[in-house]
Amino acid sequence: MADKVLLVKFGEIAMRGDNQYLFVNRLIQAIRRNLDPVGNYYVVREPGRLIVEDRGGEMDYDLVIPRVEPIFGLVALCPGLRLQEMSMDAIKEEALRHMQEMYGAKPMTFKVNARRSNKGFAVSSMELAADVGEYLLDHMPNLTVNVKTPDVVLNIEVRNRIYLYSKVIKTYGGLPYGSSGKGVSLLSGGIDSPVATWMMAKRGVEVEGVYFHSPPYTSEWAKQKVIDLAKRIADFTGEFKLYVVPFTDLQLYLLENVPHDKLTIHLKRAMMRAAEQIAVKDGAMSLITGESVGQVASQTMQGIYAINAVCHMPVLRPLAGMDKQEIINIGTKIGTYDISIRPYEDCCTIFVAKHPQIKPRLNVIEKIERKLTDLDKYLEEAVANAEVIEL
Ligand code: ATP
Ligand code: MG
Repeated sequence: MADKVLLVKFGEIAMRGDNQYLFVNRLIQAIRRNLDPVGNYYVVREPGRLIVEDRGGEMDYDLVIPRVEPIFGLVALCPGLRLQEMSMDAIKEEALRHMQEMYGAKPMTFKVNARRSNKGFAVSSMELAADVGEYLLDHMPNLTVNVKTPDVVLNIEVRNRIYLYSKVIKTYGGLPYGSSGKGVSLLSGGIDSPVATWMMAKRGVEVEGVYFHSPPYTSEWAKQKVIDLAKRIADFTGEFKLYVVPFTDLQLYLLENVPHDKLTIHLKRAMMRAAEQIAVKDGAMSLITGESVGQVASQTMQGIYAINAVCHMPVLRPLAGMDKQEIINIGTKIGTYDISIRPYEDCCTIFVAKHPQIKPRLNVIEKIERKLTDLDKYLEEAVANAEVIEL
């Protein structure tokens, strides 16, 4: 006899000594949070594994797997069986039933992989694999052994209980969400920043979004797009706080008071400063952007230098060294790309210079900014009037 369970493998964190306990707790919480709304599930610890069992009946993998898959820190999910007995006979019987149910009578190659971390079980891994392999060969004429490139690997794990599985679904890896401090992400409706936000979340950084909105120059559609992107990120993180900062007045002030070819740099500096104010308020220790070196005029080394100079916090730029296509590939995989490329109409391009300065000089930019006596006031107002959306 055996029960259907989901074996959950976690990676990197397994090596992290004392922290492991905390990290595993976070993973358990995340699994519970995603599964509690849909049934009566229970997460059991095994050394090096988490086992999800369904106490409400037979597990429905189509329901459970999509809800566990997005959790950061997990490396693989294996739908499998947990045996009710600790015996060789039980293993053989269930292994045979599993192979017949899953693969029927079609000709195929296989091998058995056994791991025994429970040394109280008398049979060694090697013997176990050999015995079960032989038993399967005797009972399933469609099988042949192939150790190097088998069609199917039947895994047997002897832990506190015995588990069998032959299907391994790779997940995203990374670190448990929230285990690496907090960062405020400058989230536009573009392709890049949602990917950057996701990448840092994957490294365990608790992320919040800040979107600078300039109605009527940027449309409600643009804002809705950012909200939809934030929702998509929340599918991975569980929750997401988005600040929508009204930037129209500040942007018009800059438009009037700085040379047009430097407008973008001044605007980006203002965005960084506003984001940092929010970060300080919320106890974050980093900013995150979707900048990629050389991608556009404001992302030359000189541009990044001039923008970065206003920041006191580290600015994380996970896309700095990536090509556009690499970024698009990730965006596609995580489901942000389709939202990002949704067309929408912005009614005006007065803020876009025809020939933006490609190599701004910091001292020139700072000199201009020293004359912008109202800039701080506009910044303060913008941050104070931010709309907070909890997703
Ligand atoms: P993206 O694809 O993320 O929009 P981009 O290729 O359009 O980036 P830029 O316009 O130079 O590049 O923006 C660089 C970064 O500045 C963005 O990745 C984002 O982090 C931030 N940013 C730009 N505009 C906004 C905005 N309106 N609100 C919030 N952040 C912004
Ligand atoms: Mg953009």
